Amino acid sequence: LAAVLMTLKTSEDALPPASQAAREAMDRSRSQLEGALREIRKAIVDLRPSALDDLGLASAVRWFANEHLRPLGIKVTFEISGDEQRATGAAATAIFRIVQEALSNVARHSGARRAGITLDFGASAVVTVIEDDGTGFDPEGFRQPQESGRGLGLLGMRERAELFGGDVEIESGAGQGTSVRVRIPYA
Ligand code: ATP
Ligand code: MG
Repeated sequence: LAAVLMTLKTSEDALPPASQAAREAMDRSRSQLEGALREIRKAIVDLRPSALDDLGLASAVRWFANEHLRPLGIKVTFEISGDEQRATGAAATAIFRIVQEALSNVARHSGARRAGITLDFGASAVVTVIEDDGTGFDPEGFRQPQESGRGLGLLGMRERAELFGGDVEIESGAGQGTSVRVRIPYA
């Protein structure tokens, strides 16, 4: 939908100046599309991934990694400690979403051969670390929204963690691989 929105904008800009009616129609389509996008984003946020209910957090993470990294030839190791039952409800969903984004980034950008996932269900918070031995990048370059539209994944991770009183720390650099550490308190 976002792509359609951009195409619409390009077509609108290419219209001859006299095409007032077409321009207005396109403008209406654009607002309608923007409204639809907003609604869909809201609905997605409310959706709880069913894998979480069916499998529990640790297995859902395992499943997602196996599904998305193994087919790329990336070896994945897991280390899970503490009592998984401590993470429930919205906090568990938040962790799953953040891990999902971090793992998607490993799959899409890292070129890694190995990835490691640790999940530690501590007394007051869950801490998860997602590491890869790939290309690395400069995380400081992605603390603000980029004009290119890139960087929303990392910003979304930080926003989501902060919403739950937690935080995200990223260690990375060219040729150094990447480590993403996320801490989310239970309540
Ligand atoms: P999207 O908004 O769809 O997530 P994106 O993945 O490009 O797009 P971010 O998730 O915010 O955006 O990541 C920003 C950039 O940081 C990526 O484009 C990539 O260059 C770099 N990056 C992120 N994670 C890694 C990683 N594990 N290894 C190498 N580069 C990474
Ligand atoms: Mg991303």
